[in-house]
Amino acid sequence: MYAESLDLSVGASQAQASLAGLACDPAHSRGRRHPEPPAPTRNAYQRDRDRIVHSTAFRRLVYKTQVFLNHEGDLFRTRLTHSLEVAQLGRSIARALGLNEDLVEAVALAHDLGHTPFGHAGQDALNDCMAGHGGFEHNLQSLRVVDQLEERYPAFDGLNLSFETREGVLKHCSRANAERLELTEPGGVGRRFIERSQPSLEAQLCNLADAIAYNAHDIDDGVRSGLISTDQLLQVELFAHYHQQTLAEHPGLTDKPRRLLYETIRRMLSDQVYDVIDTTRQAVAQAGVRTLAQARQAGPLVSFSPQMKSRSAELKKFLFAQLYRHPQVMQTTRQAQQVVHELFAAYVAQPAEMPSDFAASDDLHRSVADYIAGMTDRFALREHERLTGRKLL
Ligand code: MG
Repeated sequence: MYAESLDLSVGASQAQASLAGLACDPAHSRGRRHPEPPAPTRNAYQRDRDRIVHSTAFRRLVYKTQVFLNHEGDLFRTRLTHSLEVAQLGRSIARALGLNEDLVEAVALAHDLGHTPFGHAGQDALNDCMAGHGGFEHNLQSLRVVDQLEERYPAFDGLNLSFETREGVLKHCSRANAERLELTEPGGVGRRFIERSQPSLEAQLCNLADAIAYNAHDIDDGVRSGLISTDQLLQVELFAHYHQQTLAEHPGLTDKPRRLLYETIRRMLSDQVYDVIDTTRQAVAQAGVRTLAQARQAGPLVSFSPQMKSRSAELKKFLFAQLYRHPQVMQTTRQAQQVVHELFAAYVAQPAEMPSDFAASDDLHRSVADYIAGMTDRFALREHERLTGRKLL
């Protein structure tokens, strides 16, 4: 038997219960903000996914930093490959649980559209720049991209996505921003942050798939970069467990460190996927929910088991301390933040340096933030050099 089919049989044998009754159904979507006739060959969520894939913001993800700056190496993850990995993991889990794969794919592909250049460094800098002007949150920005900033259709701004896709895109939101959203869209995607209810199971799943994806690929990229070593990773229980398991089965891999690393990560990913599938089925059974409306009130249902949760948290903590806060990453971070701060100041002082529709806005600071947030890493660097005459990074 092939290993692939063996893996599938493990997942399938654990429990057959489908959660299809709790899945979002495109035929019963809460609809789009601007009503449109249905597409003849695609359901609402498939159409959303297609709109996302064809958007300008999606193509820019290929030149945006995940952890390593885009120009630091060709093999590191970018926001685009990260988003594809989240979609792959999300769809696998959704299929096993009977949730809506198309919706999961749409949310996963859109979840990072609002990310600034230079990853979290860029977002923190932009948030500083926007203090006193409403701040900057990348999740809210992803929603702004799909609701307002994309310009593709004659009759409306944005991509006019279904409610359920937009709900999934807005994975976190401050109370203040939720109240602002509620003013423009009463009972809309901001409401759950005020009521403290849950989004669809597909949206919950995308959050978890995001964390599973970056924990795994940041190990790979971290080792590839030389900033973290396998020896350091062996302090982390989740990694050490699968590393030992792999070596016990394939002792020859001691001479093939990349294959050993990939196999360790592959096993880690598979077991996290099975863990989410089992734990979610149990949580739904325990909560006794029978409808999506009940599931939204039941607290988070898509989750890791307590043991996997603590192992995953340990890994995340390790990556934070050893990789994201590595002196070499921190130095890049500081320079990236300087680029964003100086770009922001330059455009506020001279709005005409931006394209005319950004320059003409009646909320200049928000408009500058939108313009900078949309930039790729390399475009931001070029603009910075053009406006300041100095070259950073
Ligand atoms: Mg992400």
